Amino acid sequence: MINKENKTIFDKLLIHDHEELIFCNDKKLGLKAIIGIHDTTLGPSMGGTRMWNYATENDALKDAINLSRAMSYKSSLAGLNAGGGKAILIGDINLKSKKYIERYAGFINDLGGKYWTAQDVNMTTQDILWIKNVCPYVIGLPKEYGGLGDSAIATAYGIYVGMKAAIYQITGNNSLENKKVCVQGVGKVGGKVVDYLIKEGAKVYATDINNKNLDNIDEKNVQIIEKDNIFDVHYDIFSPCALGGVISMDNLKKLNCKIIAGAANNQLEDDINVPNELLKKDILYLPDFLINAGGIISCYHEQINQIDLQKVMQMTETIYDKAIDVFKYANENKITTHSAAMKIAVERIERNKKKSN
Ligand code: NAD
Repeated sequence: MINKENKTIFDKLLIHDHEELIFCNDKKLGLKAIIGIHDTTLGPSMGGTRMWNYATENDALKDAINLSRAMSYKSSLAGLNAGGGKAILIGDINLKSKKYIERYAGFINDLGGKYWTAQDVNMTTQDILWIKNVCPYVIGLPKEYGGLGDSAIATAYGIYVGMKAAIYQITGNNSLENKKVCVQGVGKVGGKVVDYLIKEGAKVYATDINNKNLDNIDEKNVQIIEKDNIFDVHYDIFSPCALGGVISMDNLKKLNCKIIAGAANNQLEDDINVPNELLKKDILYLPDFLINAGGIISCYHEQINQIDLQKVMQMTETIYDKAIDVFKYANENKITTHSAAMKIAVERIERNKKKSN
């Protein structure tokens, strides 16, 4: 398969030294899957399965490659003994059936634990349970099936402690009381972030395109704003908890805030221009893969068989110190926080690679 830039698959794998790509096919079931394993130096690769009706196979390949690599960095930075993986099911969600999912689970099983899957976009708890019928390499299970339940609990806590670290960095005090915080997207994670903020006395603004989710918000303590008006207000913290790509060069012309700290994966439109612009504008950016690691911390504890939410929350709390370390590294090396977080993640992997050689 040759992609648009005329790079072969091996060219693509060499860029960030991916270990494996596994292509899975079942003609009768219409099953086409790609499992990306970026790096297993720190431990077995972990990351969710995503199903998407991609315009081209190259788009799917790109996701398998980029998302598995991002998982390596997230786990490394969080201090987990886990590597990075991600699986992509290509096609319309109507293709899914018990047979289809169980066949897919067979492919994961063949890897013998080198890749552990969890729920991601367009995958349901039922799908995860069907996978579990066939193979043990599944994490992010409901409590009644021996898992730790909703990983958004830990993810939201990580976002909250990340915000506190950032406000400390700027003011020397980590209280969020009276700080103006806008949460974009009040779903499973954003809704819980709002609860933490209200409890601490922050001035909370929230927006969502789904009114049902806004109905769950305590309107006495939260100012609801239209999604198109979010840039009209000055915030201490802007918290993207909806979509990726929201921090773009265009939006940065309008966004008026001191800190960006949210859960959405891949918040930055690109890896170079946007972080540089944030630095220029003196906006303190908390890399998403640093502060949204609560979910993978929770899944990891299932993988090592420690079904203990308290331990998960304790480890998630260390995101505060890790954020302070990233700010320090960025300042000392005069680089963006995004680059600093990447470098710290890669350095840990490289140190361990050397040890095992
Ligand atoms: P969710 O689907 O429960 O919530 C997302 C919310 O964003 C929904 O309420 C949706 O209506 C809203 N939304 C979508 N587009 C919007 C827009 N343009 N403006 C305002 N609101 C909009 O998802 P979640 O589990 O809360 O995850 C939120 C983000 O965090 C996602 O990007 C996800 O990938 C990332 N994340 C989640 C976890 C986790 O543990 N759930 C872990 C790591 C990262």
